[in-house]
Amino acid sequence: MNKENVKKNVCLIKDCDRPTHKKSKYCIFHTGAEEKTEKEFIDALKKYIRDTKEDKIYSLRDFIFIGDINFRNNLNITSFKSVDFRNVVFKRGANFKNTTFEEVVNFDSATFEGVTTFDSAIFKEDTLFCGVTFDEDTDFWRIIFKKHISFKGTTFKGDTDFGVTIFERFAMFIDTTFEGNVSFNFVTLPTGNKLNIRELFVYLKKKL
Ligand SMILES: [Zn+2]
Repeated sequence: MNKENVKKNVCLIKDCDRPTHKKSKYCIFHTGAEEKTEKEFIDALKKYIRDTKEDKIYSLRDFIFIGDINFRNNLNITSFKSVDFRNVVFKRGANFKNTTFEEVVNFDSATFEGVTTFDSAIFKEDTLFCGVTFDEDTDFWRIIFKKHISFKGTTFKGDTDFGVTIFERFAMFIDTTFEGNVSFNFVTLPTGNKLNIRELFVYLKKKL
């Protein structure tokens, strides 16, 4: 059997190596929403999480999440050690309420098509939300960003709430677009001085 035949039923995403799902050219995680049911997807995701329990290194890059995704309630995850969310798509809601991210977390180029909440999440290491699209209302309320956070090139299409959030290090909002209302009420910035707060708001006004 030549190499092409061996690879025939393997997902087209680079380095995925999972079997293709039904008639799709991609696996259950990477195939489009129209080619899988919510039950099939969540069952496969639960199995993946179970199988990865030992080292807790989750490679979710390019996954297309369907249904209401709630990592705490559906998948029993309250804390992520190492996780890669680059270029993922959440077709509906994504709920990361009270979740702790222990290591560097990367959501670059992700798309959140439904209402998204990170309410009370803690990001312990550098966090990247660059080039992300949030299509609906987004909640970054009561977050603690302990290290650097970047929203460079990200678009918030709905209302966005950063109220009561603590930015312990540098927060980058370069080329960030807020199309809806945005609240930064009672945020805490690194030095806690008013100049920094004013600069942040001047920058935001330019973009609004
Ligand atoms: Zn795949």
